[in-house]
Amino acid sequence: MQYTHDLNQANEYAQEVLARLRQEGLAATPDNYELWYVYFSGQHPELKRAIDVLVGAKHKITEDRCKEMYQRFLSSSRDEEMLRRAGDQVHATIKNVAGVVQNVKDATSQYSGKLGGVSEKINTIKDPNELKGVLKNVIDDTRDMMTQNQKLEEQLSQSSHVMEQLQRDLETVRREALTDGLTGISNRKSFDAEMERIDEESKKTGGAYSLLMLDIDHFKSFNDNYGHQVGDQVLRLVAKTLTDGIKGRDVAARYGGEEFGIILPDTGLQAAVTVGNALRKAVASKDVVNRSTGEKLARITISIGAAEAISDEKTADLIGRADAALYTAKHNGRNQVAAAPTPGKRQKKETA
Ligand code: GH3
Ligand code: MG
Ligand code: MG
Repeated sequence: MQYTHDLNQANEYAQEVLARLRQEGLAATPDNYELWYVYFSGQHPELKRAIDVLVGAKHKITEDRCKEMYQRFLSSSRDEEMLRRAGDQVHATIKNVAGVVQNVKDATSQYSGKLGGVSEKINTIKDPNELKGVLKNVIDDTRDMMTQNQKLEEQLSQSSHVMEQLQRDLETVRREALTDGLTGISNRKSFDAEMERIDEESKKTGGAYSLLMLDIDHFKSFNDNYGHQVGDQVLRLVAKTLTDGIKGRDVAARYGGEEFGIILPDTGLQAAVTVGNALRKAVASKDVVNRSTGEKLARITISIGAAEAISDEKTADLIGRADAALYTAKHNGRNQVAAAPTPGKRQKKETA
């Protein structure tokens, strides 16, 4: 995010931010500060709206919630900034190495010129002292050359360390960009990308794949009864139960609020319903304990819509059908799996 406020304005926002952090009982970490600075400066309307909705619904703004909002609205600009900086660093490193390589190249060609001169001259030398002098020069030049080469080696090793560190940093950024801040499982962005990848693969091979859309039942009243923080704890518990309950190449992601999506490659509708039921039972069997009071809370249940990809279907349409089935599961009483009808099986795409 770019900030162009003048001194007075920036100070004014700072006062508001710090007062608000104190009021909400939030730590004045750089991320929290930035989140609320952006909120008060109004320069990110969607972020402002999201916070206003929470405030309007009288939800407590917890550290986790701030973290999630930071990730949703601001981390992509931070990622871009990190990528830009990494790019600059790679550029500077390459320039540096290129400079040293050029110096060594020049020195090598001078050195080889000198050696050529010496080898021409050496047969004509009669005086041992003169030979001694020539040899001394050759030894000195060789030492210089060795020093230069050593410098190059050091420089190259340093550069490779810098590059390796950058590689690790970029991997961290990439992973963070695809992870949901609250639950630690794949986020919506990752879900969308995985859907496209698995769909493309299935269109190529003609293999089946299915999608489960899951939604926690009566979650609003759960939040209302026990508070948002316990609600967040439930979201983490459900996410963990789902990831524990799938295997292999299956993908579990937080699709939004209290909705999850599970992509099941190489899986037909019947098997998807079986997986859905196993997940549903696993969630329903969990005890939720209020960490601060030790009190056992109401059981959580989930409703699931299952759909198998059909011929030439777009991923958005498959999601739509799974969503419609989810609605049916809700309508029929919740805590159950409903399957979307499968009008036409997926065929292998004919390649011209
Ligand atoms: P239904 O069985 O029909 O799904 O009822 P519901 O109450 O779960 O559905 P509704 O869509 O009315 O409410 C979803 C609620 O989920 C609203 C909001 O309070 C809550 N919610 C959404 N995201 C989060 C979150 O990140 N943390 C917490 N604690 N609650 C969330
Ligand atoms: Mg919902
Ligand atoms: Mg719900």
